[in-house]
Amino acid sequence: MKRISVDMDGVIANVYSQFVAMHAAEFGKLVTADEMNGKPEDVAFENALQYVRSPGFFRSAPVIEDSKEVLRKLNDQYKIFIVSAAMEFPNSLVEKHAWLNEHFPFIGWQQMVFCGSKEIIKADIMIDDHFKNLNFFTGETILFTQPHNKLANALDHKRVENWQEIERLLLP
Ligand SMILES: [Mg+2]
Repeated sequence: MKRISVDMDGVIANVYSQFVAMHAAEFGKLVTADEMNGKPEDVAFENALQYVRSPGFFRSAPVIEDSKEVLRKLNDQYKIFIVSAAMEFPNSLVEKHAWLNEHFPFIGWQQMVFCGSKEIIKADIMIDDHFKNLNFFTGETILFTQPHNKLANALDHKRVENWQEIERLLLP
């Protein structure tokens, strides 16, 4: 079975809706698509780093549309590993673990990889929203569109807009 490394934030966990909601709560203003597209998260949302360090940020993130249904199907035909750079925000680890157990109960603990740099990850396919992870990877790379990467050239990576595209790509 082929192995797929699946990122959490910006691929299955909707962190942007958390940023937008917390920014609106603090400043009383909804950041528009135009204002966040093409900008790093901490530029689009000036207090983004505070938000990600707030208790509950990861635990209460909504699930990205269709990710659960498609991953459930992929899980039968591929070896799925959820790979998250949780060491960037160590307090996130417990929240991410609980979040995965709640929303993706078909993903076993052996399939959860909380790490530092993803440079160490070896698999056949990587799905991620950050070039810094995809560019090191030696297998097939899928760039999941998020506002911060929306205006960038996908280079050698296959860009997808949503999980339905991933389904068509990997479960033909
Ligand atoms: Mg990510």
